[in-house]
Amino acid sequence: MSKSERRFISGIHNYCDYWCEHCAFTRRCRIYIDKDPLREKSDGNPLAQDATNAAFWNRLADKLRETSLFGDKHNWDDTPDATFDDVPDEDWLEREEALQEASRRHVLCTIAEEYRKQAGAWLDAADADLKALADELMNEAANPFTQDDIEERARKIGEMIDVVAWYHTFIQAKVYRAVSGLVRSEEEDEPESDMLAEIRLHDANGSGKVAWVAIERSIGAWLHLRDALPAREPEILGMLTILDRLRRGIHAALPGIRTFRRPGFDGEVDDDE
Ligand code: SF4
Repeated sequence: MSKSERRFISGIHNYCDYWCEHCAFTRRCRIYIDKDPLREKSDGNPLAQDATNAAFWNRLADKLRETSLFGDKHNWDDTPDATFDDVPDEDWLEREEALQEASRRHVLCTIAEEYRKQAGAWLDAADADLKALADELMNEAANPFTQDDIEERARKIGEMIDVVAWYHTFIQAKVYRAVSGLVRSEEEDEPESDMLAEIRLHDANGSGKVAWVAIERSIGAWLHLRDALPAREPEILGMLTILDRLRRGIHAALPGIRTFRRPGFDGEVDDDE
């Protein structure tokens, strides 16, 4: 393996938060170097550029799956395989639909969906309150006796809004993936081996871990916003309660997240560049 190949951390993008702009590992991430997904064109769908929209995450998830499973698509051999049987397997489709339905109805997914809706509605409706807060800060800044670092307060509020906006759809997507892996790993009539169940559980733990990290960061952001916007405290407390249930639920359903180490983010990385 060449030195330039060695610099990449294998699988780092599998359990990251896709927030490349804030990532310390851009130089060590193949996805980022090959094709920064967040800067790529959105195939005509303007929502796919917006990280607070599910279309963004769906597009990114497709890209990551392609890369994880098949490597760089430029290296694909697209010659049709004459032996390939493309008739859908009805049993498989039925089982697949049942697994997806079981995942969607799982209590963790319903909590995550509830959080996505409430946080999204809050973000849509918060503009007027945030502008009123901006006016307050402007007035305070004009006071010659103020001791506060008003500029820093304003920056921090912007940062916390960004955190909430970034993670509210991400949490739902990752909780779904974690639950889906868990449900599949527990499937009794699974025709494949125990090893496959183990791989699925491993992925469920990784997805659960990154969802948990996003929840912790979101809780920190909401606590800050609650102090900055006391008039919105009741709604914010409601969302904090949902997030707390979700993080406790994830810990109970996936105890393996405690020891799961995400490549790059949770472990020492040799920097041999
Ligand atoms: S690890 Fe994730 S967040 Fe970091 S550069 Fe790669 S895709 Fe972006």
